[in-house]
Amino acid sequence: MKSDLHLHSTASDGADSPTRVVDLAVEAGLNGIALTDHDTLAGISEARDAADRVGVAFIPGVELSVDHDGVKMHMLVYGIEPGHGPLQDRLADLRQGRTARNDRIVESLQAMGYDISMADVREHAQGPSVGRPHIADALVAKGYLKTRDEAFEHLLHDGGAAYFPRTRLTATEAIELGRASGGVPVIAHPKTISLRSDSYVEAFSRLAVLGLGGIEAHHPMHDQDLRSHLEDLARGLSLIATGGSDYHGMTKRSYRVGIGTGDLKIPSGAFEDVASAIR
Ligand code: AMP
Ligand code: ZN
Ligand code: FE
Ligand code: FE
Repeated sequence: MKSDLHLHSTASDGADSPTRVVDLAVEAGLNGIALTDHDTLAGISEARDAADRVGVAFIPGVELSVDHDGVKMHMLVYGIEPGHGPLQDRLADLRQGRTARNDRIVESLQAMGYDISMADVREHAQGPSVGRPHIADALVAKGYLKTRDEAFEHLLHDGGAAYFPRTRLTATEAIELGRASGGVPVIAHPKTISLRSDSYVEAFSRLAVLGLGGIEAHHPMHDQDLRSHLEDLARGLSLIATGGSDYHGMTKRSYRVGIGTGDLKIPSGAFEDVASAIR
């Protein structure tokens, strides 16, 4: 199956509605997708309805920012249905943590002289998961910076002048809650993890014992060597090597649905392997 297992919509910080994301998947010739918004399942039912209409297989997902022994990483959890459940119920706390953190970021920007309010930020968010990307959009709309990326570069990046951390699950909690909800946890884009490659082999081995289900080997940020290295690593740990474009809308980042920057090759069995690991 031709698939893309990492897509964002307006339910979090993507630029396109869940329906539009499905349409783009069809245009890209895909027949399976997963929607993986940050900390929310609010886009799932619309995406599934749209996928059903056009005959695209669909997996509900979510992307979490987690902490593993002081190291930050992102985790995708597949097979999480909207409604209540062990992981589902914690997502509300995570979004609450975002709200408190957004307030601190906006206050610190105001203290630096930026004329920006939470109302300005909310104008750029259409879903329930509001974060730094929307604050960046508000700064751009006010003319302080040219692009979302520039706003990150100057103010909002991890450790930046207006950065505050937010509530995170540990990787262990995310795996346990995800599995308890019937889901399949997958380490997202290992490239962004600030560990040397030998240390992440060790981290992934430990997480595999706890119930990790896969590694996102194929991501636009990974060069070909890293993709094949991560595939081998996944295989060696009996994990699924997954892949996705991390599409956020063309206006936000230049990754395209299904192909990333053009050279993304998501393994043909990845969708099926993830789907069959969901309980
Ligand atoms: P938040 O969820 O509020 O912590 O924001 C994290 C999201 O912001 C990430 O998932 C990306 O979509 C985006 N992001 C993080 N770092 C950067 C960066 N340096 N440049 C552009 N976007 C970023
Ligand atoms: Zn995002
Ligand atoms: Fe991510
Ligand atoms: Fe993502």
